[in-house]
Amino acid sequence: MPRPIQATIHTAALQQNLERARAGAPDALAWAVVKANAYGHGIERVFEGLRGADGFALLDLSEAERVRALGWRGPILLLEGVFEPRDLELCSRLGLWHAVHCDEQIDWLAAHKTQAPHRVFLKMNTGMNRLGFTPARYRSAWARLNALTQVDEISYMTHFSDADGPRGIAHQMQAFHTATQDLPGEKSVCNSAATLRHAVDARVRGDWIRAGIVLYGGAPDYPEHDAAHWNLQPSMTLSARVIAVQHVPAGGTVGYGSAFTADAPLTIGVIACGYADGYPRHAGTGTPVLVNGVRTRVVGRVSMDMITVDLTPVLNAGVEAGFGAEATLWGRAASGAVLSIDEVAHAAGTVSWELMCALAPRVPVAVA
Ligand SMILES: *Cc1c(COP(=O)(O)O)cnc(C)c1O
Repeated sequence: MPRPIQATIHTAALQQNLERARAGAPDALAWAVVKANAYGHGIERVFEGLRGADGFALLDLSEAERVRALGWRGPILLLEGVFEPRDLELCSRLGLWHAVHCDEQIDWLAAHKTQAPHRVFLKMNTGMNRLGFTPARYRSAWARLNALTQVDEISYMTHFSDADGPRGIAHQMQAFHTATQDLPGEKSVCNSAATLRHAVDARVRGDWIRAGIVLYGGAPDYPEHDAAHWNLQPSMTLSARVIAVQHVPAGGTVGYGSAFTADAPLTIGVIACGYADGYPRHAGTGTPVLVNGVRTRVVGRVSMDMITVDLTPVLNAGVEAGFGAEATLWGRAASGAVLSIDEVAHAAGTVSWELMCALAPRVPVAVA
């Protein structure tokens, strides 16, 4: 028997979350962002759930090839553009649209031989200071691109640093709007947080939203709002089984470093999931877990292959919690109870994005 741990990808949840994202930005087209192997879910595994999107946005050319191999003939956008000149050949061959964020990428396009001109998304750096041309340099980049026979339509994009927080997007929107208002073409500025929080404004909504975490059921602005607030469904469940039960006496300790001491006799479940499965090692005592659908907590340190959880609340609820019991590390339990990945991430000092992306290759994955 394989080790009793499993991830499940929920196709219906992906579909519903895509609809939820669309509802936040009516009339806009939706990129489904499937970078990082669809946020750890697997591109092939999410394809059915997300094929209702208007296009797929990603970073790796190999991932673009995988999307085409699934039979997708619609738009695919390389969010960071190409990394060297010959990547443009693959763009031509597969009909990939690509971001243009630096002068080098324009130089390469100018030297590129292609039958069909490319659709590009010219990226503006409106203050995040990662990729893109500053507003002052944007118009000249546009003019260069516009003069190239290798370039077809030019669209406009920027990325928000604070769409999820109190600083908001107004300062970046202002810069973007000023520099693009009289340019012809489509615009794309919203990530998930902006889609949910700011896209009621048509100018923010633009022509294309870029929906990432929202598709996978993570609340982009947790803990201010949770997934239930945004009506998002978990697209990934990580579950495992109790493989041992220990009765720890008062004063007994649990796990490495004796990081947890029982102040009263305690029944502990040992669960077949550890940091080598992608469970965060920083999820210390108190991190929520469901056992047979009942909420309890991690006690002691997360180790490579196991975590230890307090079974008392489960037993007190009159629910069986012995050997073989189902543990839900995040997602949906068999009972239907949900443990939000945001809560687990928060307890571990990280974000849902990282937990999803970190699902380890050794965990078997099913699509439901
Ligand atoms: C990853 C990414 C997104 C999606 O971000 P979420 O916060 O997951 O919605 C959108 N735009 C760009 C440029 C990205 O790299």
